[in-house]
Amino acid sequence: MSSESSGFPRSPRPEWGGKPYHPISRVYRERFGAKVIKVPVSIADTCPNRMGLKGMKTCIFCDEWGSFAYPESREDDLREQIRKHRSKVAARFNAGKFLVYFQAYTTTFTALGKLRDGIETALSFDDVVGVVVGTRPDCLSPALLELWRSTSERAFMAVEFGVQSFDDGQLEWMRRGHTAGQSIKALERVAKEAPGVDLGIHLIFGWPTETDKQVVETAKLCNTLPITNVKLHNLHVLVKTPLEELHARGEFEPISLELYAHRVGLFLSHLRPAIAVHRLAALSSRWDELVAPQWTRHKMKSHQAILDHLAARGIRQGIEFE
Ligand code: SF4
Repeated sequence: MSSESSGFPRSPRPEWGGKPYHPISRVYRERFGAKVIKVPVSIADTCPNRMGLKGMKTCIFCDEWGSFAYPESREDDLREQIRKHRSKVAARFNAGKFLVYFQAYTTTFTALGKLRDGIETALSFDDVVGVVVGTRPDCLSPALLELWRSTSERAFMAVEFGVQSFDDGQLEWMRRGHTAGQSIKALERVAKEAPGVDLGIHLIFGWPTETDKQVVETAKLCNTLPITNVKLHNLHVLVKTPLEELHARGEFEPISLELYAHRVGLFLSHLRPAIAVHRLAALSSRWDELVAPQWTRHKMKSHQAILDHLAARGIRQGIEFE
């Protein structure tokens, strides 16, 4: 049923602060009573793909820093990283509380003891209200689930899975080394065995074989999963990645901003309103690493263009779901 025929209003919900989607910042504010920003840190330096386990290869889009926002300080000890990156994001976003985000590579591929110590270190900061662990769906163990479960009983404990796509053909093309079924199973397993853990997923739009129908199906699938949030990325080409080689050979071209905005609109309109959204498009962690598309270089302009696309068509999150 369309939003027009159902009679639901197309205007943004007041509780979303005027945004046409459910912003994660609102969720944090409601939960912690203050503005909360994530502080990216790294305690991992590799992942199963980079190690070539079971014949796996580096993901087609992954830069040499394993998607870490602050590669220049990855050698610093964790306490130093938290101090440095916290002051950067505090100044930029005027925040007073923080979540330490174990972002780079595959954090759960590192020794469990290292992650346990890292969580202890993070939670020892007075203004850190919880931790977020970024990982792959195929790097779970009973001991890890127990660590997450016990942490969730005393602090905010979130996990973000790099799902990227629910299409096995696309997952193979990007050399992820896991299937859509493994992603779904991993989410269900964490929800069952560590129910206090907050679950989110990362998705990428802009695959060569991607269709509108597939984007809608992805949103519908998300609605059935035990997740509270989703982070959207546009597939972009960074230097020293396998995708850069494909792009140089003319075998891959990123989608336009117009098409990406269209796909985001489709996805959001079918997404359950309760699922929070981190952001509408990815950013290269370092400008000098970006090869294409050029529109992703201009963060605010791209973000505004997507918002304009949604506003012009009266799109907001959940209008088709409702
Ligand atoms: S995206 Fe993650 S799993 Fe893939 S190569 Fe990079 S660090 Fe490894």
